[in-house]
Amino acid sequence: MRKAANDISRCVACGVCALQCPRGAIDIYRGCYAVVDVKTCVGCGICEKACPAGSIRVKETEEASK
Ligand code: SF4
Ligand code: SF4
Repeated sequence: MRKAANDISRCVACGVCALQCPRGAIDIYRGCYAVVDVKTCVGCGICEKACPAGSIRVKETEEASK
């Protein structure tokens, strides 16, 4: 299954991904970086397209690739 994952070293905590996620799966942790709730994420890719820093990416999870 595809899920979003954030590279926190690149994230600028702008909040665009959280605003655009149709599932409300993203929170900005203490104003520092975006955190994805993988149980809620459906892998739609909207956050990846919206992120100006290129830090959030949708990838196949390990579980699905086994
Ligand atoms: S892939 Fe879609 S559902 Fe998952 S966090 Fe990004 S916008 Fe939300
Ligand atoms: S859109 Fe990108 S840079 Fe902005 S909070 Fe989300 S992951 Fe971080």
